[in-house]
Amino acid sequence: MSAAPRIDLHTHSTASDGTLSPAELVRAAAESGLDVVAITDHDTTAGWAPALAALPAGLSLVRGAELSCRWYGEEPPVPLHLLAYLFDPDAPELVAELARVRAAREERGERIVALLRADGIDVSWPAILTGAGGGTVGRPHIAQALIRAGLVATTTEAFGPDWLGERYRLPKEDIDVFRAVRLVRAAGGVPVFAHPRASRRGRIVPDELIADLAAIGLAGLEADHEDHSPAERAHVRALADELGLLVTGSSDFHGTHKTVRLGAFTTDPGAYERIVAEARGVTEVASG
Ligand code: AMP
Ligand code: ZN
Ligand code: FE
Ligand code: FE
Repeated sequence: MSAAPRIDLHTHSTASDGTLSPAELVRAAAESGLDVVAITDHDTTAGWAPALAALPAGLSLVRGAELSCRWYGEEPPVPLHLLAYLFDPDAPELVAELARVRAAREERGERIVALLRADGIDVSWPAILTGAGGGTVGRPHIAQALIRAGLVATTTEAFGPDWLGERYRLPKEDIDVFRAVRLVRAAGGVPVFAHPRASRRGRIVPDELIADLAAIGLAGLEADHEDHSPAERAHVRALADELGLLVTGSSDFHGTHKTVRLGAFTTDPGAYERIVAEARGVTEVASG
C-alpha cells in the first residue's frame, strides 16, 4: 500500500513574489516529497508554461493563481486573496482583469516608493522593477530594496508598522471579490478563499460574506496556513462544514521571501479530487 499523496496547493515563483523560478519550484516540490503542487502566483499565469516544461517525473502540477480581491462591504474596503485553480488562462474577461490588477500593482509600488523617497529614504523604483524580474510586483520586492539599503534586516521587519505594514502602506485597485468568484467560475476554474481568518495579517471579513460567496460559487476555504492560529483553523473548518465547502491546507511558499517550507501544510486527497472534478477550464492536471 502506498502512502497518502502529499498535496500543496499554494506556492509562489518568480512569476510573482517568490524567489524560485517556476522550473526551480517544481523541482524543489519533487525534492521535498510532494506528489501534487499548485503554482499560484499573484495575478498571473506567466509561470504555468515554464513550470510545465520542467515538471519532474511523478509530480502533478495544478495550474492556478492567487487573485488580489477586495470586499467593498466595509469602509475602507477589505483586501483578500482568492486562489483560483484550473481556469482557462485565455478567458478574456479574467485575463483583462488580471492585467489591470498587475498594472495597478505597479502604479501602487511607484507611489509607495515616492512616499519613501519624500522621507529621504533612498530606494529606487527602477531597481525594484529589475528585482521583480518581469514578475508581478509586490511589497516583498520593495521589502528587498529596504533590505539592500540596510534599513531593515528581514522581510518580516519590512512588513512592520514603521514600513510597508502601516506607515508606507497604500491600497491598490483590486478585483471586487464577487466579480472574481464569478469570473473564475465562468473561466471554468475553482475558487478557494486563501487564508480567510488570517487576523495577524490585517482585517478579516465576516462569516456572512463567506456564506454569500459560497452561494455564488466559492468552492472552498484554506484552513491550514501558517498565518492561522489553531483556533482560526478550527473556525474555518467548522464554517466550511456548515456551508458545504471543501477545505485545503498549503504552505504559501515564497522561497527565501518567507521562512515557510514547501509542504509545511497539505491538502487531503478528497478535497483535491473535488477541485479537479469541478474544473472545466484546464481539465487535466499535468503529470511529469
Ligand atoms: P502585496 O501583494 O504587494 O500587497 O504584498 C503582499 C504579499 O506580501 C503577500 O502575498 C505575502 O507574500 C507578503 N507578506 C505579507 N505580509 C508579510 C509579512 N508580515 N512578512 C513577510 N511577507 C509578507
Ligand atoms: Zn506573495
Ligand atoms: Fe495570500
Ligand atoms: Fe500566497
